Amino acid sequence: MPVVFEVDVDPYLQARRARHMQGSISLAKFERLVDALSRADGDVDVDIQFGHGVSGKAQAQFQLGLSATLIAECQRCLGEVNYPISSDKTMMLVKDKEALAKVPEEFEPVLVEEDKLSLMSIIEDELLLSLPLMFKHDACHMAVTAKESDEEEFEVRVNPFVVLSELKSKK
Ligand SMILES: [Zn+2]
Repeated sequence: MPVVFEVDVDPYLQARRARHMQGSISLAKFERLVDALSRADGDVDVDIQFGHGVSGKAQAQFQLGLSATLIAECQRCLGEVNYPISSDKTMMLVKDKEALAKVPEEFEPVLVEEDKLSLMSIIEDELLLSLPLMFKHDACHMAVTAKESDEEEFEVRVNPFVVLSELKSKK
């Protein structure tokens, strides 16, 4: 049976069950991500391992591994550039804002107040964080003298930190 990532899960229950979820999701399903790409082709491979930390307090957490190849527009020559991304993070589940502040630096805190977590939005947030400030070929044939003002504008538009902070301020 294929793993379904689209259904929200109770992450605390999944942690108790030490659930492992592995599969791939079409990139086209991530609207915010697609906005930054020239084509929504391909999949992201996802590997999620729920469990509890080995350190003292056995905090519910999950390991989130992602890998994908994004297709975007090179900001120098406007040709297509393949941009491989991969990330592997340990996300720590916290129930309130107070606990949020206590999460050690090596973990990524995830606030889950009602035992319900949208894996799709967590995955999309991580994909957005993996984006470069600017897509460009490693060795682009266009000179580096492209209009810098255009580049700055582009950076502001796709910078995932800006996107995320906008989202946070909406809540
Ligand atoms: Zn280029």
